[in-house]
Amino acid sequence: MVTLPVVAVAALGGTIAMRRPQPGEPVTPKLSADDLLAAVPAIKSHAQIVATTVTRAPSPSITINDLLRALQWANEQVAQGATGVVFTHGTDTLEESAFLLDLLWDHPEPLVLTGAMRSSDLLGADGEANLYDAVICAASEHSRSYGVLVCLNQTIHLASSVVKNDSHALEAFQSPGRGPAGYVREGAIEMLWPAPPRSSRFARPSSESCSIPIVEASVGEDGAFLHTVDATRIDALVVAGSGVGHVSAPLADCLERFVDEGLVVVVASRTERSGTARALYGYVGSESDLVRRGIILTGQLSARKARLALFLMIEAGYSREAIRTYFQHQWRGN
Ligand code: ASP
Repeated sequence: MVTLPVVAVAALGGTIAMRRPQPGEPVTPKLSADDLLAAVPAIKSHAQIVATTVTRAPSPSITINDLLRALQWANEQVAQGATGVVFTHGTDTLEESAFLLDLLWDHPEPLVLTGAMRSSDLLGADGEANLYDAVICAASEHSRSYGVLVCLNQTIHLASSVVKNDSHALEAFQSPGRGPAGYVREGAIEMLWPAPPRSSRFARPSSESCSIPIVEASVGEDGAFLHTVDATRIDALVVAGSGVGHVSAPLADCLERFVDEGLVVVVASRTERSGTARALYGYVGSESDLVRRGIILTGQLSARKARLALFLMIEAGYSREAIRTYFQHQWRGN
């Protein structure tokens, strides 16, 4: 008799776990991991399932504590022999949770995040198929060593490159510039390229509060409101800069003031592909001017993901120079 691999499934809320309380009303969180799995009995022909419900929260309200509790459970399941792990999660912030978990996930076993764009009571609901595919992905020997993966709409993405860039469509998740890592087809996965090398992971943070705001540089944004921000009340500041990492001249002055007060300030590109430059432009507020002022450029990492890496580095006691080195070496920053 063939022994099926063990896949551990943790439910963390989101649309996949939502239902309409009454006909005609908007959907709200409801379903547990057992409810989700009961709707997809075909999963049992691919894996033996161990399940838990960590939270039923919509993903805008997922906390770092929720993610760390789920991670702890996943680590325990792998230690007990699970072949892979699946987390169901709201799609709104899924790319961020996947990335944070990827920075902490130190196993060759896959951790696969999935969710749904349509709740189970809508026509063409995708949650059941996504859960089925995610379990197939987590059970497969071909998904080992890629770290945390995101699997929706029959498509597999790396946590580091995936973004939700459509608020309604079933193909809401893309990996701009890089493309997907693989597909799920006919009950099996097909990876398109070998697992890229992974650097060493971060230690579990001791605090769960990530007080790192993101400010977007936009037309006419001079950063005046930042003069009211007390630098001692935040851990760092992330700016989503325009183009290759640019801000207005007054905003550049304002950011320099934060650097002088000892705050780590990083600037990402608000575009979805290619990231920040290093020394392409030399005007006030350009990427090379920001570097001269002690600001760090995040390279290919988006503002949202850079914020989470920054959180783990600050928790681990990295100096400003060590943070700069991390962005330079891992993400082609400066
Ligand atoms: N639209 C979201 C979802 O797909 C809501 C959330 O992120 O929880 O799950």
